[in-house]
Amino acid sequence: MFALAARAMGYRIHIFSPESDAPAAQVADKEFVADYLDLDRIREFARGTSVVTFEFENVAAEATTAAAEETLVRPGGGVLHTTQHRLREKTFLRDHGFPVTPFHAIRWDDDARRAGDLLGFPGVLKTAGFGYDGKGQAKVRSAEELAAAWAGLGRVEAIYEAFVHFEKELSVVAARGPRGEFAAFPVFENEHSNHILDVTSSPANIEPRLALEAESLARGILEALDVVGLLTVELFLARDGKLLVNELAPRPHNSGHWTIDACHTSQFEQLVRAICGLTLGSTERHADAVMKNIIGPDVERWRDYLNDPTTKLHLYSKREAPPGRKMGHTTRLLPRR
Ligand code: AMP
Repeated sequence: MFALAARAMGYRIHIFSPESDAPAAQVADKEFVADYLDLDRIREFARGTSVVTFEFENVAAEATTAAAEETLVRPGGGVLHTTQHRLREKTFLRDHGFPVTPFHAIRWDDDARRAGDLLGFPGVLKTAGFGYDGKGQAKVRSAEELAAAWAGLGRVEAIYEAFVHFEKELSVVAARGPRGEFAAFPVFENEHSNHILDVTSSPANIEPRLALEAESLARGILEALDVVGLLTVELFLARDGKLLVNELAPRPHNSGHWTIDACHTSQFEQLVRAICGLTLGSTERHADAVMKNIIGPDVERWRDYLNDPTTKLHLYSKREAPPGRKMGHTTRLLPRR
């Protein structure tokens, strides 16, 4: 979707991916298939570009450093380094004064005991690195469950968070240009099913004061991290009315796909504009929207989604559709409230 947006603006696209025939490569000018740690291939790829960006943050620091020797890398490797590791991310946010879920690092058995004593139960144990869509996560209700869950994760570095009884989950997708220009899309709300995003509705049904607060948090975070590009800030609206940052993603986000059909500028076009140093596009919403993910084998019913003529269908051309894999989404457009 990023490649399509860039192409519509006249850019040529090179893709680097460990898999061949990746969805983006199907619409790209050139495809490099190699491991993210094949630094010679990374350098060769980067030499052929004016700017490199990401649609995935679990790329090693060595790879972003190698690319940065040859070309502009936006957002920079430092942003990926912070946001690809939950402990680094949460520590960064807390140290910069942003509100986060109470958390504790777990590296040794003693830490698991201390985390439970300090934060209580229930809580959520998450691996520090390489987690998404609820992978590497467990909700625990007691010290015994916490110890067992950590053993189940292979005693890798992890984070324990107090369970937040939230009213809603909200997201802000925002862009920042190389001169500090800033633009946020309207705040929207998300519902998950089995830890995977199911439905996003825009705008969020919240007080305007909270929407402003969420946007201002996002602005502060993009500035503190010095992002040039796009950042998605996932938030919990706790039952006491407070906003807490749950997670950051330094790239277009699944929850922001509704912008393709409902905003003047999509999140993908906005990323092109931000990393190419162009004027940021209007983030105004011309319709309300409900985006629904198409997960795993549900993709076989793709024709049915078109029965409502106001529904837009997006399929990602992935070859395999195992349970839990995001295969596409629909966006239903509604008159603006
Ligand atoms: P994450 O991978 O951190 O975005 O977590 C995936 C989903 O799990 C979130 O969107 C929430 O629905 C839920 N979740 C994660 N952390 C917590 C928490 N500390 N309290 C309550 N729910 C959580």
